[in-house]
Amino acid sequence: IDELDANFVRHVKNCIFSKSIPTPLRGPLRLAAVSKDVIEGILDFNVAVTQSDDFLNYASGGRLLPGSEPLAHRYGGHQFGYWAGQLGDGRAHSLGQYTNRKGEVWELQLKGSGKTPYSRSGDGRAVIRSSVREFLCSEAMFSLGVPTSRAASLIVSDEPVFRDQFYNGKVKTERGAVVLRLARSWFRIGSLEILSQSGEVDLLRKLLNFVIDEHFTSINSEDPEKYLVFYSHVVNETAHLIAQWMSVGFAHGVCNTDNFSLLSITIDYGPFGFMEAYNPEFVPNTSDDEGRYRIGAQANVGLFNLEKLLVALSPVLSQKQQKMANTVLKGYVDIYQMRIHQLFKAKLGLLGEEEDDGYIIAFLLKMMEETQSDFTVTFRQLSEVSAKRLHNRNFTQMWALEDLSSHALFSDWLSSYVLRLSKQEEENEAARQNRMKNVNPRYVLRNWMAESAIRKAEMDDFSEVELLHHILSSPFVTQETAEEAGYAARPPQWARMLKVSCSS
Ligand code: AMP
Ligand code: MG
Ligand code: MG
Repeated sequence: IDELDANFVRHVKNCIFSKSIPTPLRGPLRLAAVSKDVIEGILDFNVAVTQSDDFLNYASGGRLLPGSEPLAHRYGGHQFGYWAGQLGDGRAHSLGQYTNRKGEVWELQLKGSGKTPYSRSGDGRAVIRSSVREFLCSEAMFSLGVPTSRAASLIVSDEPVFRDQFYNGKVKTERGAVVLRLARSWFRIGSLEILSQSGEVDLLRKLLNFVIDEHFTSINSEDPEKYLVFYSHVVNETAHLIAQWMSVGFAHGVCNTDNFSLLSITIDYGPFGFMEAYNPEFVPNTSDDEGRYRIGAQANVGLFNLEKLLVALSPVLSQKQQKMANTVLKGYVDIYQMRIHQLFKAKLGLLGEEEDDGYIIAFLLKMMEETQSDFTVTFRQLSEVSAKRLHNRNFTQMWALEDLSSHALFSDWLSSYVLRLSKQEEENEAARQNRMKNVNPRYVLRNWMAESAIRKAEMDDFSEVELLHHILSSPFVTQETAEEAGYAARPPQWARMLKVSCSS
């Protein structure tokens, strides 16, 4: 731990954390959103407590829990392909770990809580719009079944925060917000990279041992191969995570090594996006000019990041272990392909394994791309349509399937698919539909949905944030309020104009 004057921005050596005190947001404070699931299911207290002024203060950095010694984590990272040196928690404070009634250990963090030694030229703040997006998306991802950090609360203030946002040609003044977020661990690939790059091998070993002991409990701490085994776990789980992102059409937006968790959970929600029309070239972040982090490149970027992790580990691996680690890394592509194949087979309701399964999946995706069919709703409607309607091509009120069926080869694909399904005759139709509906969400956090909630939140109307939070907590269940809001309907025209940048 680095003990210099708590929040003084500087280049830091030889530590993993710096002491850093949150800077209270200028009031009045308002509770914009709260996750009852997290408050009650993870933090073990009654959600009614969040209505108090005490909670507003604790959850925004205005007051510290007894015994809490807030810390900012030192990490580095490769940003857009290049080593960026020291990054670190520039606007986040770890409050400490909490062991809950279930015995789970969670690390609590505030984001947007002021400057730290790692703020560089930043102001340590987060604006309302990006905080609403992080709150909603992390909770939505959890409900989709994707490993992720969680969000407990979102508190907004009147403190002005300046970003490069324009509105009607004028610079728009925004306001600061703080998200109370939780993860089993916030360590990233960049956490190890900075130690390795700085030649701090003792600390590198110390951090690795800690992470392995706390989070990779199947690894024996006496095992001489433990770093190699750890690496193969991360390779495996990263492949699985990215396959899951792809299966729900999620593009993270900024897949730098500092945003890639060692526990392979989704962290650091910034300019992410859920793909609407299926398009492997989809880039959610307007600041990503070259499309480095386009959705279709995420699997490869995972490989790049794992290569960087291996470089970071090399000081603690023998030559023989490094060779083996390279072999492990070569297996990444196969693990990813295997997992993607499983996930998409499930999305199509396919049981068992037939020779043509890969072809049926690839053919469908190609047609979706060429007809710009909506990724989420096409799969959902395939889950809701009966085999008979499919066969008869009766797609009234199924707008995504209508789009898809405009493809010249649709009938060819349909015949293969219906034939494939008919081979699962042991099973009834309702069972197939249920299986498919449980993996194909009807609702995801589309940019236009988030944007509409944000516009209201910026005027202190949090009703739509709450509505979205509620609906997206059951994304596989058709809900009346969601239907009324058009969340499974064709996206509105204005949605196409939306852009999300890194500015947050
Ligand atoms: P990101 O790409 O958003 O994950 O951020 C990269 C780095 O920039 C991290 O070290 C962040 O803590 C830091 N950062 C981003 N925004 C700010 C800000 N407003 N103030 C201080 N640091 C920031
Ligand atoms: Mg980050
Ligand atoms: Mg960020």
